[in-house]
Amino acid sequence: MAEVRTRISLKVGPNSHIPAEMISFNGLVSDKEHVALVFKKADKSQSVPLIRIHSECLTGDVFHSSRCDCGEQLDEAINQMAREGGVILYLRQEGRGIGLYNKIDAYKLQSEGMNTYQANNHLGFGDDLRDFTEAGQMLEALKISQLKLMTNNPKKVKALMDYGLSIEQEVNTSTHVKDDNEDYLKAKVENADHKLDL
Ligand SMILES: [Zn+2]
Repeated sequence: MAEVRTRISLKVGPNSHIPAEMISFNGLVSDKEHVALVFKKADKSQSVPLIRIHSECLTGDVFHSSRCDCGEQLDEAINQMAREGGVILYLRQEGRGIGLYNKIDAYKLQSEGMNTYQANNHLGFGDDLRDFTEAGQMLEALKISQLKLMTNNPKKVKALMDYGLSIEQEVNTSTHVKDDNEDYLKAKVENADHKLDL
């Protein structure tokens, strides 16, 4: 079982003005350094908190790359949680779990015509190596058993339900189409049943 290791206060978001807590954990099943960002008192409130599971994407989150919509998805979650509270579980599983260097290799194959899933398969990886067990562990450590999940990905919903958590509501996120990410978004819909309105 995982438990909270350290909690700190900080301010986040584009103008560094949104108060949040960052929490680290002991006892997660992998040695990855996942963190939770808690907005307001969502982890102790009576109402059902809004939760977003976000997988690390260096190119999208930090550099706002045109190849995906991760940075926009993250900003959307932060802005929504600034208003109504909630928790972002930031999972350090870059490139759907294949790691940054392999993701860069996959991007190169995509430049040559493959979609995300074909490129990962070509490199010898499955469609999606992410494991959301630790998201369940983190929520358990935060004493959250009922939640609203902000996602378009049915795999995340199933993983948390399998962990024994109760999902009261699925809140779909917006679609962020840019110059270069339309094929990436289409592949998500066609290969992984994402609920996106393209
Ligand atoms: Zn991304």
